[in-house]
Amino acid sequence: MDTKVVRIDESHKDEALLREAGEIIQSGGLVAFPTETVYGLGGDALNPASSRKIYEAKGRPSDNPLIVHIADMETLPAIVKSVPETAKKLADAFWPGPLTMIMEKSDLVPKETTGGLDTVAVRMPSDAVALSFIRAAGGYVAAPSANRSGRPSPTRASYVAQDMEGRIEMILDGGDATLGLESTIVDLTVEPPTILRPGFITGEMLRQKLGRVEEDGTLFRADSGQAPKAPGMKYRHYAPEGELVIVKGAAAAVTDYINGRLLEGRRGHKKTGVIATDETIAAYGADVSRSVGKRADAAAAAKGLYRILREFDDEGVELIYSESFDGEGISQAVMNRLLKAAGHRVIDV
Ligand code: AMP
Ligand code: MG
Repeated sequence: MDTKVVRIDESHKDEALLREAGEIIQSGGLVAFPTETVYGLGGDALNPASSRKIYEAKGRPSDNPLIVHIADMETLPAIVKSVPETAKKLADAFWPGPLTMIMEKSDLVPKETTGGLDTVAVRMPSDAVALSFIRAAGGYVAAPSANRSGRPSPTRASYVAQDMEGRIEMILDGGDATLGLESTIVDLTVEPPTILRPGFITGEMLRQKLGRVEEDGTLFRADSGQAPKAPGMKYRHYAPEGELVIVKGAAAAVTDYINGRLLEGRRGHKKTGVIATDETIAAYGADVSRSVGKRADAAAAAKGLYRILREFDDEGVELIYSESFDGEGISQAVMNRLLKAAGHRVIDV
């Protein structure tokens, strides 16, 4: 199949292109589209055959449920058993935006879309192209991140093309994703509501609206002994092809340790990489060094992380050391993704 890649701009939304993309979805095809978090691989959420195609294109296990994207609050009641008060509050505060809510599903949503579950994950993205596309597609677009399973989520259209060329009908190129990490997922079917994946909408922000909100114990630890509640979180995700290790500790000790390992790696004829910050990058002797930005700027790290992981793959880097990004708020989302990319390999120095 030929994949048609079209540039589409927020300021000059080409209505004919959006109609064409919408028709592809309504006739059972797949279209990748930009959102503020990462690019999504969209299909008709109400069509079981479309969801099966998404799993196939991604090479994703079919027990890993998809997020249903909507564009208008009026379309929500049809796909859930009832709209919980908690969902109304959070939608008022954070939709459209990078928040996914889990609710009991209605019969309209096929189990193929929810990976066999009786619950459905729903998000209303804020990206203007995404909203127009969802409306043109009939209002319900099932979309996981538009990467092949196990690859970092794509933050620009060329990364989608790397993974999906020839597998899907169309890619809408809306430029770089403004946030760069996937949405926060909160489960509203349990009491208290529980965060299954950290993101830009932080636990603190959710607590301000709902009172008590918990975090799934598996988010930051490999050895919690619990199964993650978001089925997707159990897979090794976001993984670069090289071996990635996170190094934690006082700044000078981290630099020394990493430089020692890099030297060893190069002696073993391995291509080496480092993930650092603007403050420290000059101190490293790696073949490929990348900064995520200023240490205090967690949003920049979120935006750049997946691009950097893909660049290491493109450069054939075999051994990667990363500084650690501990902190509150968005840093937690960055660290959660980095830990998954590293398969939880962390060294304390
Ligand atoms: P992605 O679409 O690639 O951002 O991944 C979607 C994430 O949402 C995966 O980790 C899924 O396991 C999770 N998810 C989707 N639907 C549900 C659901 N009904 N219950 C729990 N987690 C879900
Ligand atoms: Mg994904």
